Amino acid sequence: MIHLEEVNKIYPTANGPVHALRDLSIDVEQGEFVAVRGPSGCGKSTLLMTVGGLVALTSGRVVVAGEDLRGASPATKARFRAEKIGFVFQMFHLLPYLTVLENVAAGAARGQQGAARRRAGELLDKFGLPHRLKHRPAELSAGERQRVAIARALVNRPQLVLADEPTGNLDPDNAGVVLDLLASFHHEGGTVLLVTHQERAASCAQRTILLRDGAIDA
Ligand code: ADP
Repeated sequence: MIHLEEVNKIYPTANGPVHALRDLSIDVEQGEFVAVRGPSGCGKSTLLMTVGGLVALTSGRVVVAGEDLRGASPATKARFRAEKIGFVFQMFHLLPYLTVLENVAAGAARGQQGAARRRAGELLDKFGLPHRLKHRPAELSAGERQRVAIARALVNRPQLVLADEPTGNLDPDNAGVVLDLLASFHHEGGTVLLVTHQERAASCAQRTILLRDGAIDA
């Protein structure tokens, strides 16, 4: 599902180049639940965004869900993300002026709006939020917002969910709910790559990739 081969990412900055990923080679099988851990600045987010086709590589090869991302055009990458990937972030990143239902349906592929609204309603129902469809994100608790964000990530039935510290802003109870939702996506055959600092979150995964200075920490 995920194949990284000798990947390097160097960010050019005003203070000189920052080598965020160093000769990184990783394979994740379809249906695996993998945690990514390591100290702050070790390249976890860069790795996740690389897998999501959001980072222009310096060198190396990245193939995700059958898509070779190295030479892919922006349009191909956008379609790849829309069809195959769901993103979940620590800060939720919901659109404040849309309702909960609209936020979830907004991720739908073009021409699929009607079906997306139905699927969004089903997911929000399943995630315990049927009474919140017309609310704005600001009217929701942090745990509820993250459940909405997970519904949005799943609305297009992705093969892979990329989650960057999804429980980092949640209390233990709400973190547990969010981890259960990711685990249930995994049990239904989905692949999960989860960046986390938290022991409990990592324990949901089948294995952990530990990074240090942009490389596997052996
Ligand atoms: P982590 O998620 O493990 O905290 P990141 O992938 O965010 O690590 O960052 C890895 C390194 O790359 C850090 O040194 C960070 O400062 C640097 N970095 C990340 N994004 C950028 C960027 N857009 N421009 C310049 N440097 C960046």
